[in-house]
Amino acid sequence: MTIGVLALQGAFAEHEKVLRLLGADTIELRKSQDLEKDYSGLILPGGESTVQGKLLKELGMLEPLKEQILSGMNVLATCAGMILLACEIDGGQAPHLATVPMTVKRNAYGRQLGSFHAESEVAGIGIVPMTFIRAPYVSDVGDGVEILSRIGGKITGIRYKNQLAFSFHPELDPDLRIHEAFLKSC
Ligand code: GLN
Repeated sequence: MTIGVLALQGAFAEHEKVLRLLGADTIELRKSQDLEKDYSGLILPGGESTVQGKLLKELGMLEPLKEQILSGMNVLATCAGMILLACEIDGGQAPHLATVPMTVKRNAYGRQLGSFHAESEVAGIGIVPMTFIRAPYVSDVGDGVEILSRIGGKITGIRYKNQLAFSFHPELDPDLRIHEAFLKSC
């Protein structure tokens, strides 16, 4: 199985490593022509969502990627990737994909708690380690959005149809179950 990994900015190499450990092949998506390649799942990595959104737009990748997702491509998005998927970004206007009816709050844990580690339940998977780095949380969800995890009452993981999004970084911890579940869905 081949997975396309958005490789414009951020922590894409870490996702590639995990996918290879699980036996999948990866393609780096860096320009609009790459979106025509043959892959059966898509990773949107963490990084800086404003930079990623701007690059997606400048490179002519924003609309084709959005169409791909809306036509059913399986997506795993982490942190900045989750922000790109949200229809509403609290306090943000940067270009983004807007394919999940939810509102996210960027850098939502404040300065002192900018980065932290936790262990908590993800529905359907179990207790997993969670590394948060200047993470967003989901402040509101629309119809059809399934909540998969929360930390301190705040939503940190969702599924909406073919899209899975987490505000933490499963690619930075040795637990492979989230990527494994994603690959199964592809
Ligand atoms: N704070 C970043 C943003 O707003 C996300 C951080 C991350 O992806 N680790 O885009």
